[in-house]
Amino acid sequence: MTPHILVLAEHDAGDLKLATLSAIAFARSLLAQCGGSLNILVIGDNVAATAGQLRQYGAASVLVADHPQLKHPLADKYAQVLAGVAKQCGATFVAAAASTFSKDILPRAAALLDAGMLSDVVAARPDGDDFIFKRVLFAGNAIATVTLAGPLKFLTVRASAFSHPTREPGESEVTSISLEPERLPAFSEYAGREAKVAGRPDSTEARVVVSGGRAIRNAEDFERLVGGLADTLGGAVGSSRALVDAGITPNSLQVGQTGKIVAPDLYIAIGISGAIQHLAGMKDAKVIVAINKDADAPIFEVADYGLVGDVYQVVPELMEKLKTHPGP
Ligand SMILES: Cc1cc2nc3c(=O)[nH]c(=O)nc-3n(C[C@H](O)[C@H](O)[C@H](O)COP(=O)(O)OP(=O)(O)OC[C@H]3O[C@@H](n4cnc5c(N)ncnc54)[C@H](O)[C@@H]3O)c2cc1C
Repeated sequence: MTPHILVLAEHDAGDLKLATLSAIAFARSLLAQCGGSLNILVIGDNVAATAGQLRQYGAASVLVADHPQLKHPLADKYAQVLAGVAKQCGATFVAAAASTFSKDILPRAAALLDAGMLSDVVAARPDGDDFIFKRVLFAGNAIATVTLAGPLKFLTVRASAFSHPTREPGESEVTSISLEPERLPAFSEYAGREAKVAGRPDSTEARVVVSGGRAIRNAEDFERLVGGLADTLGGAVGSSRALVDAGITPNSLQVGQTGKIVAPDLYIAIGISGAIQHLAGMKDAKVIVAINKDADAPIFEVADYGLVGDVYQVVPELMEKLKTHPGP
């Protein structure tokens, strides 16, 4: 079966989420194996610029569903638009990066079309007339090899499993989707959003993530040591659950099985023991650096570079050295 893949782009008020590129990489890896076609769908309000950013990734079309009613990612509306477009363009696969956004929307769209859905896919290959997928289970400790019945398949893919694709020469055409706004469902209504102005990149998008663990005694120390090192490196901050439970860091910073899954180029774990639930969120980082006063801490088993020492002494020294010797 030749795949016709529709990738749903994710953005935050027009700011493209880089994980979208991983979903495109997934699609391209499948097309490289068995041919087929790729379209990308952007849903929102005033999203022409976002669509423009996606024109160089080898899609036949970047489809744009643009309407004030789609300003906020309300799952009922987005799912209906996605299902409609998938049907209209004859998609056999609908894919998006695994995230809160896609996990809200894709299963609903799949249900509207009576299609099956797999989440957290890390690999796919053709198998006769069908496909075989690998998906992670149990916080990454098991990988299931599965098939998915039916001619239309919905998938969310693990961003950390697919490197961002290279840009292609030439640009995809941008096509507007005609909408019937009065027929969009209105089960949910946007009431508002409370978001902290972080001033730092999101840990799932950043090339460098600096995370703090129980070694950090309070919020001021977290900001000074973890935040300070992250700022020195232009990175994002993360945290173990121990600090979240202690009320030192917000839940949004938690990395791990029940937090965010990150795969930066560099992950620095400051005073984190390396519990399996934490490793589930960061072990795909390209380079892992751990600082811990206990030479036997399990984090050193996954670390590429380890520094045994007191974080209160070592981290300020490291920041100082990085400021005076910023590197190439
Ligand atoms: C169902 C479930 C889900 C979970 N999900 C998550 C999750 O998503 N993310 C997560 O992180 N955890 C999660 N946990 C919790 C996890 O099991 C650990 O309890 C947690 O990760 C421990 O955090 P920590 O490494 O900061 O603390 P600890 O395990 O207490 O480790 C602190 C480390 O700091 C070192 N240290 C202390 N003082 C200093 C110092 N001054 N200088 C240098 N080193 C020092 C110690 O040697 C130690 O290694 C989950 C647990 C369960 C049961």
